Amino acid sequence: MMERFEAAVHRAGVKLTPQRIAIYREVARRDDHPDIEAIFRNVRREQPSVSLDTVYRALALFSGLGLVTMVRPRGYNVRFDANTNPHHHFVCTRCGATLDFEYRDFDALRIPESASALGRVDSRHVELRGLCARCASGSGPAATAKAANNAHHQRGTSSHRAHITKK
Ligand SMILES: [Zn+2]
Ligand SMILES: [Zn+2]
Repeated sequence: MMERFEAAVHRAGVKLTPQRIAIYREVARRDDHPDIEAIFRNVRREQPSVSLDTVYRALALFSGLGLVTMVRPRGYNVRFDANTNPHHHFVCTRCGATLDFEYRDFDALRIPESASALGRVDSRHVELRGLCARCASGSGPAATAKAANNAHHQRGTSSHRAHITKK
């Protein structure tokens, strides 16, 4: 994964700084789709001079290079995902946990004309919503007011949406 990262950064003619390496490694080593604050908090331990702005700009750069994607669970901060294999997400409406799963039938979803008329479809991403196993069993973290409100409106429902990428 790091080789691919270094090759892509090198190809783009971007300088490979220790801070950028640490930021990418932090996203890549985690599977919980950390938000920018969480990435910043951990990277700062290793790179004490890193700023939130540097983290933000590095993630925007990686996103432009296709190395990370931004995940936007409704009602939660943007999170970052270094898993570039086709996959889908389960989002917990109570704690915001965003979990990966793979399912080939979703990868191959037929695109209706109403969507293809909007632009060229390059990828499909299905987001399922509900309660994660921890929250469903009552052992999840205490819900914040915002998340609780969110869950109140969405509990028991699961919806999906496909992302259309226009290039
Ligand atoms: Zn949860
Ligand atoms: Zn993911």
